[in-house]
Amino acid sequence: MPAAAAPAGTAVPASPPPPFAARAASVEGSPVREILALTERPGIISFAGGLPAPELFDTEGLRAAYDAAFAASARRALQYSTTEGAPELRAAVAARTTARGLPTGADDVVMTSGSQQALTLITTALIEPGDVVLVENPTYLAALQCFRLAGARVVAVPCDGEGIVPEALAELVARQRPKLLYTVPTFQNPTGRTLPAARRTAVARIAARLGLWLVEDDPYGELRYEGADVPWLAAHPGAEDRTALLGSFSKIMAPGLRLGWLRAPAALRRAAVVAKQAADLHTSTVDQLAAAHYLATADLDAHIATVRAAYRERRDALQVALSRTLPADCEWNLPEGGMFVWARLPEDHDASDLLKTAVTHGVAFVPGAPFHATAPDPRTLRLSFTTHTPPEITEGVARLGRALTEYGTG
Ligand code: PMP
Repeated sequence: MPAAAAPAGTAVPASPPPPFAARAASVEGSPVREILALTERPGIISFAGGLPAPELFDTEGLRAAYDAAFAASARRALQYSTTEGAPELRAAVAARTTARGLPTGADDVVMTSGSQQALTLITTALIEPGDVVLVENPTYLAALQCFRLAGARVVAVPCDGEGIVPEALAELVARQRPKLLYTVPTFQNPTGRTLPAARRTAVARIAARLGLWLVEDDPYGELRYEGADVPWLAAHPGAEDRTALLGSFSKIMAPGLRLGWLRAPAALRRAAVVAKQAADLHTSTVDQLAAAHYLATADLDAHIATVRAAYRERRDALQVALSRTLPADCEWNLPEGGMFVWARLPEDHDASDLLKTAVTHGVAFVPGAPFHATAPDPRTLRLSFTTHTPPEITEGVARLGRALTEYGTG
């Protein structure tokens, strides 16, 4: 018999809804997102966000590409499409990958909603709660979130100024039996470091010998300002059958497109496609077709060259300003590309405390501690140099210098 409806105005006895999943309760929101909110105040010169420079977006070219996608077939552009992605875009990504030294067919590529989704799909395909995932220390924050949400036990591989130390990796793999190693080997976020070719060879060998998946995340590789390209980890002997290479248009076209991809061996790709069906069926058709039109008709490489030239200038302005301003016992690196400089404050300094003072001086950065899976170094910080002009960068570092003086005497 149907239950009688409670008369209007009568309180219905209520039990609380069941609790959230443990994973949702245990993984915190990104502290960097909170800092970004703080730094959006007017007048702040922010080295905090890892954003591409919006004034460099090819807005006209992209608008024309969307027009062309609609003109060619508006109905197709607005319709559901395949989970793997638009064939012409997969082919174009494969051709670019092949041209950069890794022979790739269109079928090897799955288009994703940002490379962030590629990471989630690989994690869904490979990781059971309790599995060990190895990461660089420090590493990309949203990768840590992704692995922790999956219930992984995240273990940091010892790194030095050049990235992963192969001997330490071999020892950890033998001891911990991890499922995968996640690495950003080129112009890493947050450190800007690039893993040298000889270490890539060693990492691929260790993965092959000891049995390990490799996830090579490469959103920054085309933003090189000096030096020679280093072949992808995926291109090294031993890595072929066990590497998921993640790519993205975010840093070379625009992040709002949310277009990334994964290139992986067939079985892993199939598992990722099933995971993607459950996540979002497919990546936006219209965005994919617009990107495909852009690649077919505009000159992405010329655009990347423009972006590179601007970012090189900004990186150099940051370097000059840092060496003029920071005390001698501060350390920082000179990345050959990407978007980030990694710095270390003098002894007894805490970058999170300094940030509070810095914001009052009108400058911001991201403290390095949250990027560490273990053993956070409170003296570290990340400076992104992409979104300000050289004069703004010079002024921002002058403010940082004043904040450091106040912090030191405070
Ligand atoms: N991996 C790394 C290392 C990143 O720094 C970022 C973005 N900052 C991503 C992945 C995500 O990029 P996308 O916009 O392609 O999702």
